[in-house]
Amino acid sequence: MTDCIFCKIVAGSIPAKVVYEDDLVIAFHDIAPKADTHLLVIPKEHVVNLDDLRAEHGNLMQHLLFSIPKIAQQQQLDGYRTITNTGEGGGQEVFHMHFHILAGAKLPGF
Ligand code: IMP
Repeated sequence: MTDCIFCKIVAGSIPAKVVYEDDLVIAFHDIAPKADTHLLVIPKEHVVNLDDLRAEHGNLMQHLLFSIPKIAQQQQLDGYRTITNTGEGGGQEVFHMHFHILAGAKLPGF
């Protein structure tokens, strides 16, 4: 999608502090971190959010989910929180699916 900021990061047309990339996903530092470590893991394909998933995304989602502990291990995180916001009511601001990885001292409880 041409007007999607995360698609632009995938395309390399806007900069990002990338920590992991393979053929299906990319992970980078959130521009406005809400924890000591705040990463975003996204599919390279433009998928809006969980509500946008179709059966054909099964392999992609499996790959994305399995990439999260791999990235956490590479970043030497001592535990982490994973969040994905779905829709405006769920707090989603960027409409390209992303999983937040939050870690560091004293994450607030729910
Ligand atoms: P959401 O509220 O779950 O949609 O989260 C969107 C996240 O994207 C927020 O935490 C933003 O700080 C982050 N964000 C927005 N634009 C950029 C960017 O250009 N680079 C990295 N992170 C971004």
